[in-house]
Amino acid sequence: MRGKRIVIAGGGDSAVDWALSLAEVAASITVVHRRDKFRAVPANVAAMQAHPKIALKTPYQLSGLTGEDGELSKIMVSEIGGGPEPLEADTLLALFGLASDLSPLAGLGIDISGKTIAVEASTCETSRTGIHAIGDVADYPGKLKLILTGFSEAATAAHAAHARVFPGKAIHSEYSTTRGVPGISPEPALMSA
Ligand SMILES: Cc1cc2nc3c(=O)[nH]c(=O)nc-3n(C[C@H](O)[C@H](O)[C@H](O)COP(=O)(O)OP(=O)(O)OC[C@H]3O[C@@H](n4cnc5c(N)ncnc54)[C@H](O)[C@@H]3O)c2cc1C
Repeated sequence: MRGKRIVIAGGGDSAVDWALSLAEVAASITVVHRRDKFRAVPANVAAMQAHPKIALKTPYQLSGLTGEDGELSKIMVSEIGGGPEPLEADTLLALFGLASDLSPLAGLGIDISGKTIAVEASTCETSRTGIHAIGDVADYPGKLKLILTGFSEAATAAHAAHARVFPGKAIHSEYSTTRGVPGISPEPALMSA
């Protein structure tokens, strides 16, 4: 991406985050979005709009690609209701969201509702005993779709699974504050606490 003329299509967090990150190294960044409003963290949208190296094309959409020998040279964009305009570009990033497909799980006999799987929050167990789900796909009242939540659910599910696999056997948690993070010595103050 270094030194490239990059066009990013999309209006969500991914498009905005990549525009800001790649602006540090790219020759130019143009963000094409079919609405004037972006669906992303407001502070990042403001930073993108104020960035001297990021050009915004809104409300625009992609209408074609041109190039030779497999090399992209121009991206055609058009204003909503207007004709095509060329944008000189080396790279196109289309960031229109993730299409997650839960159909491979259909045979497991767990309750799937749209793009989520309902779990019991205290165990992350699905409707089928012994099968747990964690991360964005797992749903329960008050769910927050964050990486932090996914890690927490992994620990919750592992504890519940341990109790099933080793009934009556206690888990003795090892904390990074007392044992240290692998490769990093624990804090002396915490060791003596
Ligand atoms: C732009 C953006 C910024 C974010 N920033 C933060 C942040 O700063 N802090 C934070 O805590 N959270 C943040 N999040 C949320 C965080 O990314 C998610 O909560 C986290 O990635 C969820 O992890 P996951 O493993 O459950 O799901 P995902 O990361 O979505 O991973 C699921 C994977 O499964 C794949 N998949 C789907 N269906 C199939 C299939 N049928 N076969 C094979 N593979 C399949 C998908 O392609 C995907 O790779 C952000 C999200 C976005 C979009």
